[in-house]
Amino acid sequence: MRPESNSVPLLMSALLSIGALGAVLPGTACAQTGTPPADAPEVLRFGDDLERAYDEPFFPGTEYDESVATPESFLARPVGSRLARHDEIVRVFEHWGETSDRVDVAEYGRTHEGRPLLRVVITSPENHARLATIKRAIARLADPRGLTEPEARAILDSTPAIAWMGYSIHGDETSGTDASLAVAYHLAAGTSADVLELLREVVVVMDPCLNPDGRQRILTQIEQSAGYVANLDHASMQRGRWPYGRGNHYLFDMNRDWMVGVAPETRGRWRVALEFHPQLFVDAHEMSGLDTYLFYPQADPVHPAMPATLMKWQKAFAAANAAAFDRYGWGYYTREWADGWGAFYSDSWGSLNGAIGMLYEQAGVGGQPLKRASGEIVSYREAVHGQAVSSVSNLTTLARERRAVLADYLAGRRRNVDRARPGGDRAFVLVPGRNPSREARFLDLLLAQGIEVQLASAAFTARECESPLAEAADTRTFEAGAYLVHAAQPQAGLVAAYLDFDTRMDDETVLEERRSLERKGESKMYDVTAWDLGRAFDLDCTWCTPGPVDGAVLETVPELARGVVPSADGSAPVYAFAVDGADDASVRFAVRAMELGLAVHLADEAFQAGGQEFPRGSLLLRRHENAEAFEVTVHKVADEAGVRAFALATGRSEGEGPDLGGGHFHLLARPRVAVLSNAPVRSDGFGHIWQLLDERLRLPMTMLDAQRFGGQDLRRYNVLVLPPGSIRRALAPHAKGIAAWVRSGGTLIACGSSVAGVLGEEFGLSSVVLRRDALEDLDAFAYAAERERSARDVSVDFSELWGDGASATETESDGDVDDDEASAGADASATEADEADEEDEEDEEDGDLEQRDGWMRRFAPAGAILRGIVNEDEWITVGAGPELPVPYSGSRVLLAREPVRTPVRMASPAALRLAGLLWPEARERIADSAWLTVESVGHGQLILFAAPPAFRGWFAGTARLFANAVVYGPGLGADQPLGW
Ligand SMILES: [Zn+2]
Repeated sequence: MRPESNSVPLLMSALLSIGALGAVLPGTACAQTGTPPADAPEVLRFGDDLERAYDEPFFPGTEYDESVATPESFLARPVGSRLARHDEIVRVFEHWGETSDRVDVAEYGRTHEGRPLLRVVITSPENHARLATIKRAIARLADPRGLTEPEARAILDSTPAIAWMGYSIHGDETSGTDASLAVAYHLAAGTSADVLELLREVVVVMDPCLNPDGRQRILTQIEQSAGYVANLDHASMQRGRWPYGRGNHYLFDMNRDWMVGVAPETRGRWRVALEFHPQLFVDAHEMSGLDTYLFYPQADPVHPAMPATLMKWQKAFAAANAAAFDRYGWGYYTREWADGWGAFYSDSWGSLNGAIGMLYEQAGVGGQPLKRASGEIVSYREAVHGQAVSSVSNLTTLARERRAVLADYLAGRRRNVDRARPGGDRAFVLVPGRNPSREARFLDLLLAQGIEVQLASAAFTARECESPLAEAADTRTFEAGAYLVHAAQPQAGLVAAYLDFDTRMDDETVLEERRSLERKGESKMYDVTAWDLGRAFDLDCTWCTPGPVDGAVLETVPELARGVVPSADGSAPVYAFAVDGADDASVRFAVRAMELGLAVHLADEAFQAGGQEFPRGSLLLRRHENAEAFEVTVHKVADEAGVRAFALATGRSEGEGPDLGGGHFHLLARPRVAVLSNAPVRSDGFGHIWQLLDERLRLPMTMLDAQRFGGQDLRRYNVLVLPPGSIRRALAPHAKGIAAWVRSGGTLIACGSSVAGVLGEEFGLSSVVLRRDALEDLDAFAYAAERERSARDVSVDFSELWGDGASATETESDGDVDDDEASAGADASATEADEADEEDEEDEEDGDLEQRDGWMRRFAPAGAILRGIVNEDEWITVGAGPELPVPYSGSRVLLAREPVRTPVRMASPAALRLAGLLWPEARERIADSAWLTVESVGHGQLILFAAPPAFRGWFAGTARLFANAVVYGPGLGADQPLGW
């Protein structure tokens, strides 16, 4: 697209210099052309107050080619003096792409809302002309297997370094994106020697706007909140309103999405980054408007999979950045927060790929000036200026250190592929078959990030095997068809960071955290401490040292079989279709089948039919219950959902399992789902659920507004989901109505922090209690957990039973009885004498108990992976095995005993921790508590998840239980009125 005029910039600078801009242009849509009619209202204030314009030139002394259009010529205001809209940004960059021989612009993807994502390559025309050669050379360094010394030297001598410049992944942290316009203009138009040298030594790969949907959301809010009077209050519209601008369309924090790539934005970026293999990886953010500016070196702890030279380079880049800021007298700091532990951030992803990861955190002023406590007034343009100066400083350092940075990059990648280094002979092995669609998703996210996967074409044996549930074996044989992810490979950093079990922080970090907790009650953990994908996806996987393995590297994820499988004799089904319920895709099949009016049953036991084994949770669709043409519909739905539906010729079971016409097959009811939205629901927690239900399961869902909840007719829904949030006050006035709805057949599902909101007396729904409210009853709950545990492993002492045992058995049984009485007696069987003795101490003890619990709550996990014990008799756990790794964070601990059912209970203390930081105090509080509870309430049910089960799209294992709750809940745990 063409700019409307190139003469505007001159006009702009003239206006800026006389300080008259504010009255001329509002800076929003359609304002550039024409003269407003005489009776048009005064223009609202957007962006900086131009009477107090910040008019420092961004790069003083630089000469610019006047034939290159300035950003101002499109924005009609000085760049950075107001927020640029995404469509304006696209127009500016496309113009540069069309007119400048330094700039190449391509669209690398689209957001959910259809906005284009741009990758902008800026370098010298000479480098553009040989860009393919440059990319090949850098790719050679990225995978140095077989690279000779002379070849390496030639590449280091002649190849520019690659810089990835990413701006404003959090849409409401806006200044980065506006700065990208200034930086790109500087590079596209600058004619000074320093710019020319930078362009010669560096290929800049820029994403000017990482989150267009989020940016547009906050921009609209800011515009709609604009007034005539300048407001310097930092509390006004800095972060906007729910659902804010931070996340993408589904409100995902894309700075936590680099590991699994739920967002299409992330997946597009993986492609671009792997096409260029950057050595510098910048991610520009904002923090509180009252703060200054943070850049790296990052804080401790740093993940051990990060490159050995990362810290050295972060320091070198920081020195130059600091000097650049000192020239302006700007405040800044390093190392105070933003640690290098999480593998899922943008800059971590860059570092784990061998680049120098760099974070900018500018004080966010929200697109307009604000006043700080000191009285200092900061304009938006100054914030943008800070981002631009950081960017050009880092690029300049990279240009200066180009050869040394490339040499270190190569050394790091050489180490990555070295099988002789410690752990270099290890491999992560995935045994497929348990859950084909989940395994395909897992393999896909590895391949899409350049991680090599080998498909074993023959059986092989391996030594020193360890499973995600911490089971060890000296040797194990794997069948052909297993997938291997070798530790030694170009992407070794990502492999270790994503797949290693239980990577531990260094002792000093752990000690420092303990000091901070004990002395100040503050955790220094910035985010979760564990995330390994083998556990999060609940895969059948093993870390081991494999012997020789035959088999090629996987090119693409094998296509999953889908559609209808005819019965053995090839005829149309006589009786029914069955779908394997272990596969996550079966839930999507059920959703679509019910939507099309098919009658779908869920098996509560495994069965054998049509020569296949069907685990519990498998789906059955009987011909006699469905319309004549139902084969065609089943075929269509199976294709859409990516599952196989097996045609079964007979209703008779082929094995010991139940026959297909009997009571082990429960009719599902079509879920009609409402999800609580708007404040005080957490926007990201809402988004994780929204994306799962809408994008993954394709299940229609209604967003119910928490702010005007009473006006809704709940009878329209049979499932109500409460995402995480402090919802109690919003829902308490409607507690009676909600409880009545549950009693009449509703399925109410609360996740994470919203659980506490429905445990209140006003609801009268639940017997589950928060541990902090049940300190005097801990023995009784411990006893209930112990009974449940022993019920999992039932044995009968027959000699004792029939009274012909020896005395040794009697002694044992006496012990058991005593134990029963002591524990059960917390309420009932303690002797009166005991009670009298205890009475005096009780008040004092209450205080002690609370004090002690308060102290222990300090040590709540920031985010660990713990072992859940699964009750396989419960319908809600179909798709899970006997144990399940679950996410856990915070101090909320649920206690449950009969009649509450506990489909997932936390393991006992010694077996509890699987990965991440879990202090002994937290272990004591969480062990044996409830992670997932189901309570029947009248005709309906209450389902509580102690932690958000769909957290960030990472935990496929627990997300499955949530999907079960929503899709199967109305049919299995609740009664729906029968039609007649
Ligand atoms: Zn941010």
